[in-house]
Amino acid sequence: MSPPVIELEQIHQAYGRVPVLRDVNLTLQPGEILGLLGVSGSGKSTLLRIIAGFVSPNQGRVKIAGQLAFGNGKVSIPIERRGLGMMFQDYALFPSMSVRDNVGYGIHRSANREERVQSLLELVQLNHLSDRKPGTLSGGQQQRVALVRALAPQPAALLLDEPFANLDGPMRHEVGSEIRRILKQRGTGAILVTHDRREALSLSDRVAVLGQKDGESGATVVQLDRPEVLYNHPHTREVAELTGPVCFVEAMAQGEFAESAVGRIPLQQPQLGQITAVIRPDAMQFRPAESGTFTIQDRQFLGPEFQVYASGEAGHFWAKASGEATLPGTRGHIEVVAPCATLTH
Ligand code: ADP
Ligand code: MG
Repeated sequence: MSPPVIELEQIHQAYGRVPVLRDVNLTLQPGEILGLLGVSGSGKSTLLRIIAGFVSPNQGRVKIAGQLAFGNGKVSIPIERRGLGMMFQDYALFPSMSVRDNVGYGIHRSANREERVQSLLELVQLNHLSDRKPGTLSGGQQQRVALVRALAPQPAALLLDEPFANLDGPMRHEVGSEIRRILKQRGTGAILVTHDRREALSLSDRVAVLGQKDGESGATVVQLDRPEVLYNHPHTREVAELTGPVCFVEAMAQGEFAESAVGRIPLQQPQLGQITAVIRPDAMQFRPAESGTFTIQDRQFLGPEFQVYASGEAGHFWAKASGEATLPGTRGHIEVVAPCATLTH
């Protein structure tokens, strides 16, 4: 089996006296797309720069394809020999060069350079624009050029730092899925840094959440799992919040369910005692009833169904709802319909 493309062991990094990263361990397997999710300032870009070789960490080891690239305070594989491609949010295309020359920039003047540029441009359906200058292209087109330019030297993996930050709405989604498809087709791995949970969860095979642990300063990997595992079984409050809309309800567990102010909550794991239930809006169902203790305040159509924002003595919650039972002013009950994760006290 081939070694991981990238391995980080016990990375520590501080700027002055301020710890930024603490005890970070991470591996990228060949062909894997690994999301790195964290709030702004959590050290995501710093970690990518450490992997690329632009920043030497205070402690720890970086291995590339099984070889030590940084360790014992020394760089043993410099930036240009790490074989990693990079793509950042500002694309960093050369403005005075044509699209073709931008893509060909990192390829040696070998016999088949022309064909390789051609086939890369075909991959993103931009051959017809190969003579244009980057400044005359749309944001999404520039992003595709930046992608194939980064892929041109056949890197072992790509480091993508908030690559879609400059694209808006539908375009963002489209370029994201296209990039995933291309990486998968070529078997090129990537680390995708983002503070956008939708992006991280929809485009990655696994996601590492960077955050605080045990009240210590400096971010570390608080959970690393497949997207659906992070969403359904978050280990901490922070991971739950970073991976989707959520509410936390204090409850008394009595085995397979817990009793709370919103009623009975089914649990993923049988438990006893005081717990915090982690409830996603899609686990809550609003049911209309004259006798209900909740009143709908507002609603949102999320396609294929509505979510309603309902208030009652027990608090305010987002819940699924349908039909007439979505109109503001409707009274009803809220029922937790799917087993929930819990945080223990
Ligand atoms: P993110 O990419 O997650 O937003 P960064 O890695 O850019 O976070 O930054 C993490 C923290 O490190 C921030 O508080 C930032 O101000 C600080 N930082 C980043 N680079 C430097 C630097 N070269 N010198 C001093 N502080 C830095
Ligand atoms: Mg950043």
